[in-house]
Order: sequence, then structure tokens, then C-alpha cells
Amino acid sequence: MITHCNEKYLEIIGLQKKEDIIGFNMVTTVKDGNMKKAVDAVLSRKTGHFEGEYHTAVSGITVAIKGHFSPNISDDGKFLGGIGIFEDISGRKKAEEAFRLDESRLETLLKLNQITNKSLKEIADFVQEEAVRLTQSKMGYLAFLNEEGSVLTIYSWSRNVMIDCNVDEKKFDYLLESTGLWGESVRQKRPLIINDYTASNPLKKGYPHGHIKMKRYMSVPILDGDKVVGVAGVGNKSSDYDQADVRQLTLLMEGMWQIIEQKKVGDTLRRYAGELAQVNRQLYKANLELSAANEELKSLDRMKDEFLSNVSHEFKTPLTSIQGYSQLISDGTLGAVNGQQKKAVDTVIRNSERLRKLVDSLLYISRAQAGSLTYSFSDVSIVSVIENSIQDLALQAEKKDITIKKDVAEDLPVIWADRDKLVDVMVNLLDNAIKFTPQRGSVEISALVEEDQLHIRVSDSGIGIPEDKLPNLFGRFYQVDSSIRRRYGGTGLGLYICKMIVEDHKGKIWAESEEGKGSTFHVLLPLKKA
Ligand code: ADP
Repeated sequence: MITHCNEKYLEIIGLQKKEDIIGFNMVTTVKDGNMKKAVDAVLSRKTGHFEGEYHTAVSGITVAIKGHFSPNISDDGKFLGGIGIFEDISGRKKAEEAFRLDESRLETLLKLNQITNKSLKEIADFVQEEAVRLTQSKMGYLAFLNEEGSVLTIYSWSRNVMIDCNVDEKKFDYLLESTGLWGESVRQKRPLIINDYTASNPLKKGYPHGHIKMKRYMSVPILDGDKVVGVAGVGNKSSDYDQADVRQLTLLMEGMWQIIEQKKVGDTLRRYAGELAQVNRQLYKANLELSAANEELKSLDRMKDEFLSNVSHEFKTPLTSIQGYSQLISDGTLGAVNGQQKKAVDTVIRNSERLRKLVDSLLYISRAQAGSLTYSFSDVSIVSVIENSIQDLALQAEKKDITIKKDVAEDLPVIWADRDKLVDVMVNLLDNAIKFTPQRGSVEISALVEEDQLHIRVSDSGIGIPEDKLPNLFGRFYQVDSSIRRRYGGTGLGLYICKMIVEDHKGKIWAESEEGKGSTFHVLLPLKKA
């Protein structure tokens, strides 16, 4: 029987006055088995201990306490009673519980982090069950807010809700504006605790038929920085929800959201990497096809070059005999020819000469392209090159009553060049000058030393070249217009070949012209360094 107690003891077991406990029979009235054992120990003259939840019938509350009992024995060995010392351990118990829940939450988040390849729904389901467990609740749900912040979509119900809730048609989307109490923590952007759910509240809209009855309720907004992105709600904990529950649920949701965001980034990256890999594969394939096509083109190109070169050679042999015999006929060497016959055979000679020039040009180009165009350089006197070229074209000029004027100093220095190819250049330029100049027009060729270069000019008083055509003149197969080809023939290869040869001599070639007045072609060739 309790005979004495202090104020603190009254406080611990929830009593106001000592009278309420003095006289309490510890032996017969204590119901709690463990407490009874501790008391019994004292009765057997031993010490007794109790630690844990203790429900006291006197005040009706449950308290977490730690108690030490010792027997009180007189000097002569008589049992006088016992002394009990109690300690309120509810604070410690709470701290321990919070610590345990913290650890448990961290474990949950760790597990969540390890879940890869799971959908948002699967993550939400998992977190939902953990939220219920961590807050010692019976039910819960998780909802996300749409981008505009107007619609809440329930993503996950805890298992208990699924089992116990008999609402026929579960709704998933709710307009935030018109949702009842459970939309409040989203609207107010803060946690909400209602420990007495049965009390009336203007926001409560009543649940649909078959819904779980709610006793206690708590919800927290899910935040992404400052923005509310959803809400987590739990209900029916056996004791009141408090700030520790708010903390657990908030931290769990924060962790979940971070993982979802990381996952989104990860998924996007993975998708991106996948697409990139596919593009790479396609590129690789396209590349293979391209190089195959390229190889084919190259081989076709080689075949074309070979063909061109072969055909050109095949042309030259018969041409030589056509030209040779025609010349013999024209000369009268093979017997007398009358005027008409001579005219005819001279036409053959003229045209076969055109054919020869064409074949020569084609051969030139095909060799250049095949890389087999060879030069044989030596000391060359430009005076003799010019002399030779004029000779080659004397007949042609004479036919059009054109005299080729020459303004070349006799003592020009020799240059390092391929003589035959320079003759080709000069013949080409003079040939054009004569071709594009009318009867009795003038053609002039001059050469002089300018600094360390030799400057050669071929001028005519011919039809000239429009200014806008000048830049293209040296292109392959280029002719100023189609009427030129019809009127003067030619292939558009001459100037292209000239440029190739001049540049292979490290020189320059260009043209100046005035339409209707005439043209001047310039060639610069480097002089031999002393
Ligand atoms: P081709 O004379 O065989 O057509 P070229 O490459 O030698 O080829 O000349 C290209 C074009 O440049 C000629 O078709 C002609 O239109 C123009 N051209 C070249 N030289 C002259 C010139 N002296 N006067 C006028 N036009 C010219």
C-alpha cells in the first residue's frame, strides 16, 4: 500500500492530489504483469525493475516510465515495505521512436533510389505504403498536381484503402478549386493536422458511400522548390498526429520528389543516349554506303579516263593517215586534181585538223586527270616559242587577211619551262585571237620583262568578251554562248588547258576585254632565279 509519494510522482501518473494515491494497494490492484513482477520481487526482499508503458487505472492514462523498487528491511531483519523510484521516460521514448523512424525513412529512400526502371506509379505506390508505416497510420494516398496547378490526380491509394474502401467507382481526378478538406494543404501550401475528424468543418464535404471512416487525418504538400506539385495524406493513426509525423511525411515526400526528378533526368538522358546511338548506327551505315558508292564512282571515273585516253589514241592513228594522204592528194603528188577536187580535199584537211585538235585536247585533259601529264623542263627561249607559234598559224591568219604583229625584244632571257607546252599555250591564244577577229583585223603578240617575270600579251581587235563572262573563261568546256560554238566551232577546252599549263609553270593567266573592240590575254611566267 502506498504510504508516501512526492509531487513529481503525482505529475508522472497524472494525479492532482496525494490523497488519490495514498492507500493504493500495490499488491492487489496492479494489473500490469510486468509491474506486478517488480512489486512481487520487493515482497520477496529483492529489488524489482519496470520499464515501459504503464497504464494506471487510478488516473486512466498510459505513461512511459522506468521504475526501481527496493525492499525496506530493518536492522533486525524485519520486512518493512518497499521504496519505489520512478522516472518519466516518455521524452526519451519519443526521441528513440523518432530516431527509429528517421532511420527507417532513410532506408526507404535508399530502397527507392535503388529502384530503377520503375514507373512513376510504382514509385508512388511504394512511397505511399512507407508513408503509412512511418506515420503509424492505417490509410493514405498520394496525388499529383497538373502543370497548371488546377487538377489533382490521385496516383496511389494505400493497400488498406483499396481493401476496406468500397466506393464503387473510385474517382482519380479532382479539380483543386472544388475539392474539400484534402485539397487544403495544397491550397494553403502547408501541412494540415486534424486529430478530431468527427468535429464539424465547413470544408468537409462528407465522403462517398462506402468510404473508410476517418478519425484522424494529416496531409502535407509535396514541394518542388517553391512550387506545390502534389499532396500526401495519411489517416487514422491510433494516437494524435503531431509535428514529428509532419516531419517524417514531409521529408519522405521531399526525398521521393528528388528521386522522381533524378529519374526523369536519367530517363531523358537514357532516351537521348539511345536515340544518339541509333543516329550513330544510321550514320555509320550511311557512311558505309557512301564510301561504297564513292569507290564505285572512283572506279567508274577511272574507267571513263581510260576509255577517253584509249579512244583518243585510236583516233589519232587513222587521223594521221587521213591527213597525210589528203595532203598528198591536195599537193598533186598522187596525180593532178581539178579545182573542185582540190576544194573538197582541202575541206577534208581542214576538218581533220579540227578533229586532231579536239583529240589532242581530250588526251591532254584525260592525262591531267589521271595524273600522268608529264612535263619536261629545260631552258627555253620565249622568242623562239613565239616565233614557232606564229609560224604554225601563219596560214590561218593569211586566210583572213590578218597580219600577226610581233613586239618582242630579241634579247629576252631564257626561262625554265616545257617548250612544247608553252607553244601549245601560245598557239591556243593566237588561234582564238584569229578565230574571233574579223577579216583584216589585227592580232598582236608582245613579250617583255617585268621585275622577275616575263609578261606576254596576245591582243586582238575581235568581237571581245562580255565582262560578266570573263571570270568563267578558263573553266572546262566553257564557251561564252552557244552561238559562238555554232559559228566558230571549238570545244571550250583551250583556255582551260592554257591555265593548267601556265599554273604548272607557277605563272598566271587572265583576260581583259571590251565587247566589240577586242581582247587581250595576259600570261605571266617567272624568270629563272639568278
Ligand atoms: P574554244 O575556243 O575551243 O571554244 P577556249 O577555251 O579556247 O575554247 O575559249 C573559250 C571561249 O572563250 C570561246 O568559246 C570564246 O567564247 C571565248 N574566247 C576565247 N578567246 C577569245 C577571244 N580572243 N576573243 C573573244 N572570245 C574569246
